[in-house]
Amino acid sequence: MLEFRQVYKTYTTPQGPLSVLSGVNLQLGAGESLALMGESGSGKSTLLHLAAGLDLPDRGEVRIGNQSLAGLDEAGRARVRRETIGLVFQQFHLVASLNVADNLRLQARLAGREEAAWSARLLQRLGLAGRERHYPEQLSGGQQQRLAIGRALASRPALLLADEPTGNLDEATAETVLALLLELVAESGSSLLMVTHSPKVAAPLDRRVVLHRGQLLAEPVRSGLPCA
Ligand code: ATP
Ligand code: MG
Repeated sequence: MLEFRQVYKTYTTPQGPLSVLSGVNLQLGAGESLALMGESGSGKSTLLHLAAGLDLPDRGEVRIGNQSLAGLDEAGRARVRRETIGLVFQQFHLVASLNVADNLRLQARLAGREEAAWSARLLQRLGLAGRERHYPEQLSGGQQQRLAIGRALASRPALLLADEPTGNLDEATAETVLALLLELVAESGSSLLMVTHSPKVAAPLDRRVVLHRGQLLAEPVRSGLPCA
């Protein structure tokens, strides 16, 4: 579903070039879930941006399905995002001028799916039934994050990319929201790539990898040190 082949990414900064990814290889199968861990600044969000085609690698290849993102122009990559990918960020990125129901519908419609029944059921599951006409600023943090997750999954994307989706929530709310996210992902049969700092959040996923000095390492050993 998602593949990175020898991906390199260097940013240009006032202090000079900053190499963030240096030869990242990754394979995520259909319906598989993967936790992406690593210290702050290790390049996790950078990797997610490349996976979404929001940015391009300097070298190497990112493939979604059977398609190489490098072969597409910006409009083509936007189409892949609409049709194939759901995105959840730590900050919710909801459309402030749209109410709950329209925030959900927007994504489904963009992806060409207009299923009123599915949206209604999704609202129930998100615990947002009855709040269709509320605007994001009228919702609590947990409600906004549930809406963001619902929006990302409204089109039942083949791939969900989530960047610390519960990072801004208190522990109890984070647990509820995470459980809901995993349930919806399983129901949609989506692949999941989720950035998290928390071993507890990473635990229920199929696999865990750590980004360390520009490369992906397999799950950390018990001592807490990454190993190849
Ligand atoms: P965190 O856990 O804090 O969110 P992260 O692992 O997501 O960190 P990134 O946001 O991918 O890390 O950033 C990796 C490195 O690249 C950091 O040192 C950051 O300062 C730098 N960086 C990120 N985006 C840019 C950019 N657009 N231009 C220059 N440097 C950048
Ligand atoms: Mg980040």
